[in-house]
Amino acid sequence: MRIDILTLFPEMFVNVLGHSILKIASEKALVQYNLFNIREYAENKRCVDDRPYGGGPGMVMKPEPVFNTVAAVEQQTNVRPKKILLTPQGHRFSQSLARELSKEPYLMLISGHYEGFDERIRTGMDVFELSIGDYVLSGGEIPAMIVIDAVVRLIPGVLGDPDSITNESFNNGLLEYPQYTRPAEYKGMKVPEVLISGNHQKIKEWHNACALERTLRKRPDILNRV
Ligand code: SAM
Repeated sequence: MRIDILTLFPEMFVNVLGHSILKIASEKALVQYNLFNIREYAENKRCVDDRPYGGGPGMVMKPEPVFNTVAAVEQQTNVRPKKILLTPQGHRFSQSLARELSKEPYLMLISGHYEGFDERIRTGMDVFELSIGDYVLSGGEIPAMIVIDAVVRLIPGVLGDPDSITNESFNNGLLEYPQYTRPAEYKGMKVPEVLISGNHQKIKEWHNACALERTLRKRPDILNRV
């Protein structure tokens, strides 16, 4: 998968893309990240935003630097990207959306900043508007990182053990069952007997029952959707 990130703050991504699973994915050549600084494509590099027409607080990202960046990037390849505009007004991101996006060959993530995008960036391009949740952040950089992380780990071959995803929260509409590791007892708190019994059938039943119980208790809303 090719992932292009269009942003005014490319340096913010360097650490995140250079560590852990996101780094491993690119080392395995399963994903290629490309960072594009929107400012570099502006006709006046010192001016990527301006005051809103009609008044109001803050500055709005001008259309021309974003359109120019998209056009320049699209010239690099014949493959059409799925363009994702990060905005709190978009479709709410979820595990099922991450799964869908992980099947795309090419994603282009466009991060806004300041008061957001000039409306013509949304209406004048074929974009999928995506929100990471019902709250407002200062920029689309952290949302882009969240989307990239959730998507890349679902690309086959990225995680060492594909089973890691199978029982994970939200994968089958449930939260994951509780996990324990050594020691068997810590500060008087014991690991449930069944998990050290070696009885795989019983362990599986315990996992299923716990996943169901904790979903019912913590997130009955997702259980209703299963
Ligand atoms: N004025 C905009 C509004 O009220 O809808 C919010 C602009 S926000 C301060 C600046 C940028 O941060 C947005 O253009 C978007 O790229 C990004 N952003 C903020 N919250 C986001 C969220 N929940 N999901 C995705 N992107 C978000």
